Amino acid sequence: MVDDRGRQEETWHVTGEARRGRGTRARMLACRLCGHRNRVLSGALDLPRCRDCHGPLPWLVDASDVDFAGVADAAALPVLVDLWAPVGPHGPRVIPVMEQVAGDLAGQVKVVKVNVEGAPRLSRRFSVQASPTLLVMEGGRLVACKCGPAPAYEILGWVEQVLPRAVAQLADPRNRG
Ligand SMILES: [Zn+2]
Repeated sequence: MVDDRGRQEETWHVTGEARRGRGTRARMLACRLCGHRNRVLSGALDLPRCRDCHGPLPWLVDASDVDFAGVADAAALPVLVDLWAPVGPHGPRVIPVMEQVAGDLAGQVKVVKVNVEGAPRLSRRFSVQASPTLLVMEGGRLVACKCGPAPAYEILGWVEQVLPRAVAQLADPRNRG
C-alpha cells in the first residue's frame, strides 16, 4: 500500500516535469570562436550552434532522474556524463574541469552533468560509488566508465581512447567551425 502510493507519487512528479516541456533547463555558454554568449537548452536534440558565427558550441547541460532519457539517452552525439556529488573533497572542483572538456570537445560530444544527490535512480542504474563518476555513452549505451577526479587533459585522453572516431573528427581543422 505504501509502496503503491510511493510509486504513484513518483509517476506524478515525472508527469508534472514532462508537462513543462523538454529542455526547460538552460545554460549560458560562450562561443569559443567569436565569444558570443548563447543560451543552450538541456533537452535540445541537435548540436547547438552559435547564433552569431554558427560554429559548434560547447555542449554542457544538466540532467536528473526525470529528464536523463531525453537529455542523454536520446542525444545525437556521444555523451560524456559527469555524475558528481556536491559534498566531499572533489565536488565543486570538477565543474571548471568539465567546462574545459566541453569546450575542447565542442561539436563532438555532449557533456551532461548529474548531481547524484538528486538522482537516486541514475545512481542505481550506473552503480555510482565515487564522485565524480564519468561515463561515455553512445545511443543510450554505456561505452566506458572512469571513477575519481582527474585533470581535463586526462579526461580528454580517455575520451580519445574510447571514442577514436569522434576525436579523429575533432583533430581535423575542417570540423572546427
Ligand atoms: Zn560564435
